[in-house]
Amino acid sequence: MHKHFDAIVVGAGYIGSSAAYYLSKAGLKTAIFDQGSMAAGASRANYGNIQVQDLELQFSVPMIQMARTRFATLEQELDWDLGLRKLGGLLPIENENQWNILSKREKSLQTIGIASELVQANQLQEVEPSIDPVHLLGGLYHADEGQLDPFQLINAYLTRARQSGLQEYYHCPVTGFKLEHGKIKSIGTPAGIFSADHIILCTGAYTNRLGKMLGLEWDVLHYVLGQAMVTEPLPVQLRNHLASASFFEMGADIPKGVLLANMAISQSTHGNLLLGESMYEADHFKTHIPNNSLQWISRSVLKYFPIFKKLRILRGWSAAIADTRDGLPLLGPVAGIDGLYLATAFRSTVIITPLVGETLAQLITTGTSELDIQAFLPERNAYVSH
Ligand SMILES: Cc1cc2nc3c(=O)[nH]c(=O)nc-3n(C[C@H](O)[C@H](O)[C@H](O)COP(=O)(O)OP(=O)(O)OC[C@H]3O[C@@H](n4cnc5c(N)ncnc54)[C@H](O)[C@@H]3O)c2cc1C
Repeated sequence: MHKHFDAIVVGAGYIGSSAAYYLSKAGLKTAIFDQGSMAAGASRANYGNIQVQDLELQFSVPMIQMARTRFATLEQELDWDLGLRKLGGLLPIENENQWNILSKREKSLQTIGIASELVQANQLQEVEPSIDPVHLLGGLYHADEGQLDPFQLINAYLTRARQSGLQEYYHCPVTGFKLEHGKIKSIGTPAGIFSADHIILCTGAYTNRLGKMLGLEWDVLHYVLGQAMVTEPLPVQLRNHLASASFFEMGADIPKGVLLANMAISQSTHGNLLLGESMYEADHFKTHIPNNSLQWISRSVLKYFPIFKKLRILRGWSAAIADTRDGLPLLGPVAGIDGLYLATAFRSTVIITPLVGETLAQLITTGTSELDIQAFLPERNAYVSH
């Protein structure tokens, strides 16, 4: 079988589904491929929180600010109930070092117009009534965040794209590429060869594995396996999603070989608690859960929420998440291979999906984009060609 498309998207997670929607909407004959089902990667494993701030601020904030305006009208754009709700974000602070890091961050965020407020320990329960502040110095509170249902968002993008002609190939891994005179020509899959003028890798943690098929490796890109678990539904309603300030102490680089457990709690719209997260840098994609990981998560959660002691855990999971050593995503054309693009390793992923999809469609149809992608170009300082 040999079929030709204007654009082929590889990976049907948050990013690939959005790319497929905006490319199809722009009138390009588009196909999407995934080695599993839709949302087979990290996008099946996440909380759906709409974070509006990344660890890195200089380049990510302008991107997130641009994305916010698109995100505000996304339900109308897709004509879909995404289960959107407003939710605060709270970063509980455990020590002086975290307090100093987050008080600097509070000022930076305020300067750039992101609602952010340092809260003392004795005020924490005003922000999050069920928290036990006894081991805490305070927290950094973001009033203006939110949550949606991850599967509704991905399903909405793909359904609407299908209505504009998207062709979908699931359980169909890309196993090779063909190049001709420096231009990408086609992908190889168990279902045959498919050619395209443009091929976009939205393959998250797997991106370097595909790069190697082309003799490329993006050195800045690595991945971690992140674990989380879900409880039975609860009557208690958390007002925020919470992530330990230790994430900011750690920086963008997770020490190799170390299993880290930092509290990250959210409550789904159905009332289930999502409890995380432990993570470690990996060189394999085995999604088994390491020994002690779930106990570590439980311990870090119970320290601040003893109220959750008697909860029943329904299940736990692990997923590979793409990450970069400079905290910035890889977005844009791949230097030296005409027609090949990357879009991966975003941090506040949910909120940027419409902007990234639109940016890819602009790059492919006009050669330029409204979003300045200079800092995100895949070949920045760490591009290794074999
Ligand atoms: C516990 C946890 C909680 C999280 N919570 C949040 C949150 O609240 N908010 C947030 O913004 N982010 C959150 N994240 C991060 C978020 O899940 C990821 O940033 C996001 O899912 C990445 O989406 P993606 O589309 O880039 O990659 P992925 O969803 O990983 O998609 C990549 C796709 O490529 C496919 N693929 C790979 N190789 C091939 C191949 N050879 N052929 C075909 N297909 C291939 C994979 O099957 C996969 O479906 C969380 C992550 C975890 C683990």
